[in-house]
Parts: sequence; C-alpha cells; structure tokens
Amino acid sequence: MMWPWRQNQEWVRADNLERRAIGAYLGLAVGDALGATVEFMVPEEIVAKYKVHDSMCGGGWLYLKPGDVTDDTTMALALGEAILAEKGLIVAQTVAQNFDAWMRAKPVDIGDTVRRGIVQFRHKGITEMPYDAWGGGNGACMRTLPVALITYGRADGDMVRASRIQAHVTHHSDQSDAGTECINRMIHLCLDGADKNDLLNNPVSNLITTHPEFRFHRKKPMKNPSAYIVDTLRTVFESFFDTSTFEDCLVDVINRGGDADTTGAIAGSIAGAYYGGPEAIPKKWLGKLNRAIAAQCIQQARDLIRLAEKDTHQIRKETPES
Ligand code: MN
Ligand code: MN
Repeated sequence: MMWPWRQNQEWVRADNLERRAIGAYLGLAVGDALGATVEFMVPEEIVAKYKVHDSMCGGGWLYLKPGDVTDDTTMALALGEAILAEKGLIVAQTVAQNFDAWMRAKPVDIGDTVRRGIVQFRHKGITEMPYDAWGGGNGACMRTLPVALITYGRADGDMVRASRIQAHVTHHSDQSDAGTECINRMIHLCLDGADKNDLLNNPVSNLITTHPEFRFHRKKPMKNPSAYIVDTLRTVFESFFDTSTFEDCLVDVINRGGDADTTGAIAGSIAGAYYGGPEAIPKKWLGKLNRAIAAQCIQQARDLIRLAEKDTHQIRKETPES
C-alpha cells in the first residue's frame, strides 16, 4: 500500500484545523508505537539497552513489529468509529458495542479495568461502571481523542457529558474524568493554535486547583510512571511543557519508561495538534508507522473534525443571536 497521503496529497491541501486534527491522531499512534518498545521498563533499563530510545523499532514486551500500535490507538479508533456511526453523537450503547467488538478481535494488549467494563457490558448490557473512587486508571483518557475532535467548538458542558459517556463504559472515577476532560480541553486549544501559556493557565491549572495531586514538578521529573491517571498526566505535562518540538517531547516522555505507550500516545496527540500537524512529526517515525493504522487515523481525524465543524455551524445557525 502507498503512503495514504502520497497517493492523493490531500493533507497538503487540508486547512490548518484539519492538519492539526490529523497531527493529533497520527501523534497518538506514533507515541503509542514508540512507547510500546519500552513499556514497563524503568529508565535505567532503557539507558542500558538503547542509551536513548528514539527509533520506531518495535519489540518490547509485546514483541511488536516496527510501527505497530497497541490498545491506546486501536481503542481510540473503535471509539471514533462509534461516534461516526451515530453521526457525531456519543451513544453509550454503540460505544460499548464497538469496544466489545474490539475485544473480540483479540487486541495485542488490554487493561484490566477496560476488560472488566467490557465484560460487564457483554454479560449484563450495562454501559456504565459503578463509581469507584479508587479506580484511577488511565484507560479512558488514552482513547479520548475522538471525543475531543467531535466536541471541538461545542460548549464545555457538551464536551464533559460526551467525555463521561465514553469514559464510564470502563472507567468511573473523579480523577479519570477530570484528567480526561483536561486533555480534551487542551486538544481544543491546540486545534485553535493556542500557545503553552493558554494551555497552562486554563485547563491544566484548573485541573490542579480542583485536584492538586496532578501538580507536576519540572525539577523532579516523574520516572517510571504507572497506569494511574495522575502519574500518567503529570509525566505528560512535564514532557510537553518542558520541550519545544514534537520529537523532543516524545523522546522525553517515552524514555521515562513505565506506561510509556500511553504517556507517548497522550503526549503525542497534544504535541501533534500543538505543533501544527503531521509536518511536525519526524518522517523517520511517521514513515514507519503501520500504514493501515495511519490511513485510519487520517480518515477519522478528517471525518470527525468536519462533522464537528458542521454541527457547530448548525448550532450557531439555530441559536438566535441576543
Ligand atoms: Mn497499550
Ligand atoms: Mn500502556
């Protein structure tokens, strides 16, 4: 298969918003594929083996081929498909069905909390996990990008409702909700071309005000972050705010090890949108990304953002100006 964009060069003609959306989706997949190589390693092991891990070389505990992605990307794609099937709405039943189909297709990896949620749906048809104050896994956040794209331009309350519907199929905790909503808000600002102060001053500092545990310390960087949403996002924040290119951000975040495919995926989605689109992603990485996955990411990014623009337009048209 040809590189999807070399075939038709469509992304070159894409407008800024579409490029940023595509950059976010490809950034997610690239971060996932890069991070998977060193997932569950501690930084010292990474140094011993790679010095600096910065190539799309596959391997890792999942024995991946170079450029292959994991659940972080494939769950996002399953969610995006569910949203597109409902013409832009986030319908719990459809989301849960798609997650169930995703699990039946035997993904290379799956989190325990994700599995529990899908099994509950499969056996009881329930699309919302019971509230669990201690259930702070990062699984809802890692796949949130399609929600961020489809709610672009919508009221914050709409985004929050949409975000919780998809999240609660498997993850239902305050920290997961707050962290996931913060990432959606960051993506929205990145799509608008905001700068890092905007990102820091609004979504991130608001998150830290309501949930101080997310405070991050640039001088004492997190190492070996777990799959706990607080560890994950503190790591992502440090790497994103302390670097100034997509490449540096991703190298920084994945070399901390731990849940590196997920920190890589989340950081990659923010950085891909923030730095303006796919041109910001090094070709040495993008060129090795699994091509079928890359094509799906581009297509979904484009479909979701177009639909979001259309819906926003309709809402604006229908709302009388005061
Ligand atoms: Mn994964
Ligand atoms: Mn992971």
